[in-house]
Amino acid sequence: MPVLPGCPCPPDVIPYGRQSIDDDDVAAVVAVLRGDWLTQGPHVETFEAALVAATGARHAVAFANGTAALHAAALAAGLGPGHAVATSALTFVASANCARYVGSDLALVDVDPDTLNLDPTRVPAGCDALVAVHFAGLPVDLAALAARPPVVIEDAAHAIGASTPDGPVGNCARSEMCCFSFHPVKTVTTGEGGAVTTNSEVLAERLRVVRNHGIVRHPERGGWYYEVESPGFNLRLTDLQAALGTSQLSKLERFVTRRNALADRYRERLAGLPLVLPPAAPPGFRHAYHLFPVRVPDRRAVYDGLRDAGVAAQVHYVPLYRHPVLGRFDPADFPGTGRAYEGLLSLPLYPDLTEDEQDTVVEALAKLLG
Ligand SMILES: *Cc1c(COP(=O)(O)O)cnc(C)c1O
Repeated sequence: MPVLPGCPCPPDVIPYGRQSIDDDDVAAVVAVLRGDWLTQGPHVETFEAALVAATGARHAVAFANGTAALHAAALAAGLGPGHAVATSALTFVASANCARYVGSDLALVDVDPDTLNLDPTRVPAGCDALVAVHFAGLPVDLAALAARPPVVIEDAAHAIGASTPDGPVGNCARSEMCCFSFHPVKTVTTGEGGAVTTNSEVLAERLRVVRNHGIVRHPERGGWYYEVESPGFNLRLTDLQAALGTSQLSKLERFVTRRNALADRYRERLAGLPLVLPPAAPPGFRHAYHLFPVRVPDRRAVYDGLRDAGVAAQVHYVPLYRHPVLGRFDPADFPGTGRAYEGLLSLPLYPDLTEDEQDTVVEALAKLLG
């Protein structure tokens, strides 16, 4: 069976990422399934409260997936045609699509090869919004922004459990909103799922309205009465998923600690090999290690060789300026991203990865690079 990017691997293949599901996660979902409420209901509220507790933000609004969370954040921020939205040139396409969905123009920012994050000194002056991606789980240093755009949305799909000198990622200390994904390769999962955190009551209310068709209720005109004042969508998370999320979130600290321990172990074991290790967290920052992206010579041969050895390493990401749908960009404008992309390869990293499996990865890599 071919191993497709993002698809579940056959059992004898070590994937680059996967979920950690225990019996208590299963029990949490089954309990909801036996109850009265399957779609968004009390378990979504409980999950949102757990996200508030984990991040320190005032509000959390759960969504059907991380892409929906980003789309809703762009709508809640009032972004639309005529606005310029900047994001990293090295990210998943969803970071940019949220701008495209609302008709805004896209500006791509080259990455700093030392952090693999967008270079905060290169965010174009005059852009209306920034989608700041915390690549691999290392937070962008938003304190270093040369000019702060009116709207800063964090794409923290990789970074739940990370922190900066301002506190946990998601507390929105330097942003209007922070978006998370709970896809199974991310640090906590709901199957599909996402959320936006914010400290603004106004933005939180807009996010809730966008999530539910744009419906605004007016009970003073009758219990049934509502009006739709803005175009909304059905972007709801189910209670089944939310119960899984609450159970998963209770293990966040363990998951991130384990990811950091495995990352340290990679650093020790790969130290002598001809490759570039991922940027480490600077003092005062905590890395969430969603990914462990090394840079290798002859990446194509190493990627294929690892697959032959049963290791499904992955490339994060094909730079956004290469996707025709996003418009025409000149690759020469992104020298940092181009240089990084040439060798990038994410090695397997997830809480249930065993040390034996990790050693298999290291040995296969050593043989290919030796
Ligand atoms: C996973 C991811 C998303 C999208 O999340 P989904 O839940 O898959 O929709 C957005 N941005 C980045 C950087 C991601 O890695």
